[in-house]
Amino acid sequence: MSESKPGWKSIPIAGILLEPGSAMKYKTGSWRAFRPVIDEEKCIGCFLCWIYCPDGAVIREEKSVKINYDYCKGCGICANECPAKAITMVEEKR
Ligand code: SF4
Ligand code: SF4
Repeated sequence: MSESKPGWKSIPIAGILLEPGSAMKYKTGSWRAFRPVIDEEKCIGCFLCWIYCPDGAVIREEKSVKINYDYCKGCGICANECPAKAITMVEEKR
C-alpha cells in the first residue's frame, strides 16, 4: 500500500460542487445512449424544449433551436415535451 494516496476523509462527498460555475468544464454529452434529432420542417419554434431541457443543452436561436451535443445527456425530455413531435431520439453510434 502506498502511503502517498489520499485517505477516504480527503475525498469530496459525491454530488458536492466544489467550485461554482464549473459545469461548462465537464462535457457530459459522452454519457448519452440516445441523441435528440430535430426535424426543422416540423419545428414550430415554441421553445418548450429549451425551457424543459434540464441541462441547458438546447440553444435558442431567433426562430429555431439547436442541440449542444457536448452537454446533452440524451434524457429525451425535449422529445417528450415537443408538441409538434419534431424531436426524435436516435440511438447514439460511437
Ligand atoms: S435529450 Fe435531454 S439533455 Fe438532451 S437536449 Fe433533450 S432534454 Fe436536453
Ligand atoms: S419543442 Fe419542438 S416545436 Fe418547440 S422549439 Fe423545440 S423542437 Fe421546435
